[in-house]
Amino acid sequence: MTLILSGNDYKYELEGVLKLFIPATLFNHVYSDSFYCEDDESVFARVRETKNTVLMYVICRYKGRCVRKGLLVRKNEGDTDRELCLSKLLYKALSEITGIVPKWGVLTGIRPVKRVNRWLSEGCGKDEIYNRLRNDYLCSKEKCDIAYSTAMTQKQILDGLDKKSFSLYVSIPFCPTRCSYCSFISQTLDSGRKLIPEYIDKMCREIRYTALMTKELGLTLDTVYFGGGTPTSFEAEQLGTIMKTIEHSFDMSNVREYTVEAGRPDTITEDKLRTIRANGCTRISINPQSLEPAVLEAIGRSHSVRQFYDSFELARKIGFECINTDVIAGLPNDTPETFRNTIDKLNELSPENFTVHTLSIKRAAVLNRGDKEVLKNPTDEMVEYATEVLSRSGYQPYYLYRQKNMVGNLENIGWSKKGFESLYNIYIMEEVQTILAMGAGASTKLVDHPERLERVFNYKFPLEYNKHFDLMIERKQQIKDFYTEQS
Ligand code: SF4
Repeated sequence: MTLILSGNDYKYELEGVLKLFIPATLFNHVYSDSFYCEDDESVFARVRETKNTVLMYVICRYKGRCVRKGLLVRKNEGDTDRELCLSKLLYKALSEITGIVPKWGVLTGIRPVKRVNRWLSEGCGKDEIYNRLRNDYLCSKEKCDIAYSTAMTQKQILDGLDKKSFSLYVSIPFCPTRCSYCSFISQTLDSGRKLIPEYIDKMCREIRYTALMTKELGLTLDTVYFGGGTPTSFEAEQLGTIMKTIEHSFDMSNVREYTVEAGRPDTITEDKLRTIRANGCTRISINPQSLEPAVLEAIGRSHSVRQFYDSFELARKIGFECINTDVIAGLPNDTPETFRNTIDKLNELSPENFTVHTLSIKRAAVLNRGDKEVLKNPTDEMVEYATEVLSRSGYQPYYLYRQKNMVGNLENIGWSKKGFESLYNIYIMEEVQTILAMGAGASTKLVDHPERLERVFNYKFPLEYNKHFDLMIERKQQIKDFYTEQS
């Protein structure tokens, strides 16, 4: 497929729309005022200005058909978002050819709720927000509903946010084995075990250094989040060392949420759960991804369904009052029936948080090297079922994000029982609070409202992190500079 651009440079945006209809394809692009193209399949996207008018049109040649869509606007009719107009024309032409109607319309950005939150803060009401989503972006009513209700759940949390508060992210980029869909920076224990003692030592130094700096800057610790990788790949004693360092370095008296992603059930032991509970953790994730053995095998998760149930039961026994479970719609070997069974069974356990992801096939994932049969999974039907069951069971959506290359162009939604919404998940998705990151593969996000956002990157891999630690710590001076400039 060739994309021919004439009088515009909206390559990125138009490719985003093309991918909605033609996934897993590479597009060529050329600049030319002629729609002639040797490629049998092409899109010609043109913007042509005269003294008083702007003509925009697309000509799509795809699957043996040729469809043209155009729009003429007067220049004095106010600002026209040309990029959005061309995107919508392309969307309509491809919908006509393929019969596909992507539900998020041309909203290809990853944070639809951020946009809704911005409109709310500008004083827009529900009708206006729905109109914008439907008319400007061609979103379906169902997606307007989910984006709007998510924003409303977030509103009360965001309204009370203290500008001097921050969250601490602790990265443990190690896993027992690698799942086939994974694109995270995570090392298997077999290859990375020898790096761990030094990694913990350096990370504790980074924690102490950061705590001193936040004290000087007068910042207040609000939430702590251990992610990865799989934090429970570490032994109980190693987790205890990191958690105690945090407790002894920071003022913990204002911490409202403390999460450890236990993640893979094959790493969870009573000893580890008791250690993290005793050290202040209030929320954990135990993620089966699916309760269908054939699916777990296909994605290379070396745990059984039984191990998931045992871990969940153990966590309840030890006293965790907020447990999150993650599932993924669209995994290989899953069917609508087995997916429904996973949702129903997890719903019976009544976790406080329930995150429904849609499979995203990233370049770095092993799954990306296999056949693309998985793209044909009826993911939409699966996600709809989860939405229906969870809404009926009293869960409300509290964060939502989209990723590139998601099967069916859907989304990931965090559902929560009322009062159990994870603050950290909202902060990270909406980019509304500073997050100071510790460890390899993590990045600090410095936030100052309304528009200022800066990032400070740690080294990606544990080996680099251990080796170049001092250099990295020097870069953290940027945190001080950010807050000093702010004041
Ligand atoms: S547990 Fe998570 S981070 Fe680890 S390999 Fe699997 S998907 Fe990747």
